[in-house]
Amino acid sequence: MRIGYGCDTHRLVEGRKLVLGGVEIAHDKGLLGHSDADALCHSVIDALFGAANLGDIGSHFPDTDPKYKGADSIELLREAGRLVRAEGYEIVNIDSTVIAQKPKMAPHIKAMAERMAGALGIDPQKISVKAKTNEKMGFTGREEGIEVRAVCLLNEI
Ligand code: MG
Repeated sequence: MRIGYGCDTHRLVEGRKLVLGGVEIAHDKGLLGHSDADALCHSVIDALFGAANLGDIGSHFPDTDPKYKGADSIELLREAGRLVRAEGYEIVNIDSTVIAQKPKMAPHIKAMAERMAGALGIDPQKISVKAKTNEKMGFTGREEGIEVRAVCLLNEI
């Protein structure tokens, strides 16, 4: 068995959609990035790559490549899952925490887990998405950005 860890942050700005775990969330700001800036998918991708020792998200999907401009990160997650399986691993479970002062994540958690599980071809029960505020401290607390941390466990098959 192999553990993997990933984290990601993106800046919150006006005029962008907020997409987390492949789910669009109604909010007055969205995450800025070359792709759709889905920090939840990105942190899970990095956890998967880390566990399989396959490098990081930037080495597979560089943000300098026009191919990934506006990319749907659920598709990047799907590809990451494929690469991890091709290395001979199955996903045991994924646990993640979204750190955001606003908006409330609770109504969207189930949809996020289901969407990511669908992309990875695994049972949604294997994906945990949690959310917390940072008690108004730091950049997440000031609503300047959103941070996500994730871990995963892979099983060699
Ligand atoms: Mg990112």
